[in-house]
Amino acid sequence: MKRFFVLASLFAGAASVRSAPSLADWADPAAALARSTVPLSLAESFLDAQAFLPVAAHREALVAAGKTEGANRLRVLEEIYAGNNVGALQALELVEKKDAWLQTRRALVEGLVERGRAFTEIPDDRFVFRTPEADAFLVSYARPALDGAHGRVEDFFGSTPSAPVIIEILPSVEAYAWASGIPKEKILRTGAVATVRFNRVMALSPSVPALGYRWIDALVHEYAHWHIRRVSGGLCPAWLSEGVARYLEIAWRRPEGFRHTPHAKALLTRAALDDGLIPFSRMEGSFLGLENAERTDLAFAQTSDAVAFLVKEFGVEKVATLLASFRQQPRAEVFSHTLGLGEAELEKAWRDSLADLTEKPTDNARGALGPVWVIGDFDEATLVGSAALEALRAGDRLLKQSGAAAAAQYKKVVEASPDNGVALTRLARAHLRSERPEAAEELLKRAIEKNPDYAEPLVVLGEIYYEDGRYEEGQDVLQQALEIRPFYAAVHGTLGRIALDVGNFAAARSSLRLAVRFDPTNEEWRRALSGMPKNR
Ligand SMILES: [Zn+2]
Repeated sequence: MKRFFVLASLFAGAASVRSAPSLADWADPAAALARSTVPLSLAESFLDAQAFLPVAAHREALVAAGKTEGANRLRVLEEIYAGNNVGALQALELVEKKDAWLQTRRALVEGLVERGRAFTEIPDDRFVFRTPEADAFLVSYARPALDGAHGRVEDFFGSTPSAPVIIEILPSVEAYAWASGIPKEKILRTGAVATVRFNRVMALSPSVPALGYRWIDALVHEYAHWHIRRVSGGLCPAWLSEGVARYLEIAWRRPEGFRHTPHAKALLTRAALDDGLIPFSRMEGSFLGLENAERTDLAFAQTSDAVAFLVKEFGVEKVATLLASFRQQPRAEVFSHTLGLGEAELEKAWRDSLADLTEKPTDNARGALGPVWVIGDFDEATLVGSAALEALRAGDRLLKQSGAAAAAQYKKVVEASPDNGVALTRLARAHLRSERPEAAEELLKRAIEKNPDYAEPLVVLGEIYYEDGRYEEGQDVLQQALEIRPFYAAVHGTLGRIALDVGNFAAARSSLRLAVRFDPTNEEWRRALSGMPKNR
């Protein structure tokens, strides 16, 4: 069967466009700014690593020396990087010389202010969310997840920043492309849907891709980058930065900690057995530069595995020390000083640790899906691959009349790709039609395990649990579905009905309102909503 995934690697676009300050600059930032021939550019690279104090000190020194023009320009940058668009616009008014620097900054800040008008701001002392009104409900899911991730993330970085991180959700690919500075074609081609720019975590609304995406993971991933830049001064090697971000992105939602998805594990195993691993030296700069999505996903699998190895062999505290050392010592010395072995030796030790991998890398060949990144109308059926598509369509046509007849067709698809999420979910639906929920449940659990980025089996399983009165299990899988497709009406519909059954009217009301908003044609949810007791 032809292995099908549209795109394996989301949120690969974290590389900063700005070069970081040098070690000599970090040794005394205020002095570096004072002697620099390009002080604004250097100031911006300090701000990019959240070093606000030396920039403010330099500005005050300029004011004291009567150099207000330079000071006012610094003020503009400080406001942008503090997330204060309107403040930046006001600071721009004070700049007198109308040169090219001013023109580009003005265009940028006016754009930020303009787009900011559409945002609802939902702050607290750790995270300030800025979302379009339509996406504001996401915050109630994202905040607990990020708060949960916060503890783990903090261990990794050994310190907490004083200011909250700003998280901006952009409503369209165009808006996200403009704000992130990543060209639209590159976003569409690579699925680079989240990044850090101007000290803000920016992400594309999960309403945009047809099958959603792991948007909370993406926020955690970028939140990790935001920290890495702060503690390392922007000097952490790309392989380590991406490895740590991927490691944490997965670890936050698993009590047992980091574990590869079946898809990533299969890629890593195959590469290790075939001598096809990518050297870390090929990962400088951005992962977006790797040949294709599969290579990018392999790079993430490798580097996150190397970070898991680091944590296992040296402990989290050593990793924190390592990250913080990049702004103090040359890269060539950081590894040997902190770990007692150099960067190349570490890579070799990690490669040696893969010698135990013997598992046959069959998961992808069996049709398991990686993340599916598509914009616009999309037919999920095509994810089973062209060879099995005809049988799947035949099953779809039969489903209304006979569960057994549909199941016979779907079984052919499952035979061709036994781990494919679409095939397993369709067969489960056919079993449900024949009143065989136990058989359906088993298939759905396999679909979820093998296709962790595909929401559909979670949604169907949630409905089974609801029908069976297993409310807690139902809520659990539906919450997981929201981590991928928060704009899916059926998820909110079932959550609303569960809340209604257990007498939690406030939760029922908000879930059912979302369900009706995303699918206004569903009469059942409408009735449930209008039939609810008032004032409760
Ligand atoms: Zn990244």
